[in-house]
Amino acid sequence: MIPVAKPLIGEEEIKEVEKVLKSGFIAQGPKVAEFEEAFASYVGVKHAIAVSSGTTALHLSLISAGVKKDDEVITTPFSFAATGNCALYIGAKPVFVDINPKTFNLDPELIEGAINKKTKAILPVHLYGQPAQMERINEIAREHDLVVIEDAAQAHGAMIKDKMVGSMGDMACFSFYPTKNMTTSEGGMITTNNSQMADMARTLRAHGEKERYQHVVLGYNFRMTDISASIGLVQLKKLDGFNKKRIENAEYLTEHINEISGIEPPYISPEVKHVFHQYTVRVKQGKRDNLMEYLNQEGVGTGIHYPIPIYKQKLYQDMGYDDNCPETEKAASEVLSIPVHPDLSIEELEKIAISLEAASDKVF
Ligand SMILES: *Cc1c(COP(=O)(O)O)cnc(C)c1O
Repeated sequence: MIPVAKPLIGEEEIKEVEKVLKSGFIAQGPKVAEFEEAFASYVGVKHAIAVSSGTTALHLSLISAGVKKDDEVITTPFSFAATGNCALYIGAKPVFVDINPKTFNLDPELIEGAINKKTKAILPVHLYGQPAQMERINEIAREHDLVVIEDAAQAHGAMIKDKMVGSMGDMACFSFYPTKNMTTSEGGMITTNNSQMADMARTLRAHGEKERYQHVVLGYNFRMTDISASIGLVQLKKLDGFNKKRIENAEYLTEHINEISGIEPPYISPEVKHVFHQYTVRVKQGKRDNLMEYLNQEGVGTGIHYPIPIYKQKLYQDMGYDDNCPETEKAASEVLSIPVHPDLSIEELEKIAISLEAASDKVF
């Protein structure tokens, strides 16, 4: 089976991990600091704060940006659950706004309708590696005095014009989970130009300590280890190469899918660099599950990102959420992710294209 995602770990990462293990510094130490500096410089921001996961990055960002209990956070329901859950961790309320059907990202034109006195933040997701409409979102945020936190968990290296994802909101959050564009095994990063927010995130990451045994706020242990950071430093150097391969693979797939009726290739917004964390098509005529089964039989792995809108998850239904975002519902029933990862060989790409072409007769 050609997997839909695959971490690419080489000898270099293994050597670096070995060095760290032998150094004695195996928790947060000099490698984490070095990784933070390299990541901040890559994204083009003043501060980067390494944490234990993308989820803990989101959690700490909301607190550091001043979001409090009962505040409302406007976000997209068409994302991984952590995007909504991070607001719940701090007693805030995620408020879901529908997506633009072309980009699958938060529709800026619907945001203002959801703003009220309790609204404190907007949390756009750069889904599948395609940047959300940050210019418009930032404009709305400025008008209403809101903070913007980017969920960039799927978009390392993505850009709008010459600006990197992760440098456009007040804060941004990356994930280094093994399926993402780069990995540290588990891990996450917060980026920001705001020194106060950065300080707060650093304090919260390690037990709320300003100095040893001086606990000034309720903190956590959300630290990254030097073991993870040493993997991240190597992966960061490889990131642009990985993304280039993803983009080429996506171009190849789109060329073939353009010939097939019933399958819609991904839309790419003008002036963005889409880094194809996922290559996600829409399957029309209610045939998504049939196509998925056919591809899996043929040895082509697939994924559904995401089958259930966040507000429809049991957790949210039990809290009384009864949203119905029509574009999100439609996308959840139509999307199918096809392998695009940088380790695909030309033979595997050909096999995927041939299977898709064959499917067009058998499935539609
Ligand atoms: C992966 C992901 C997260 C969570 O990251 P973890 O490192 O798995 O905690 C959050 N948001 C989105 C959009 C993601 O894809």
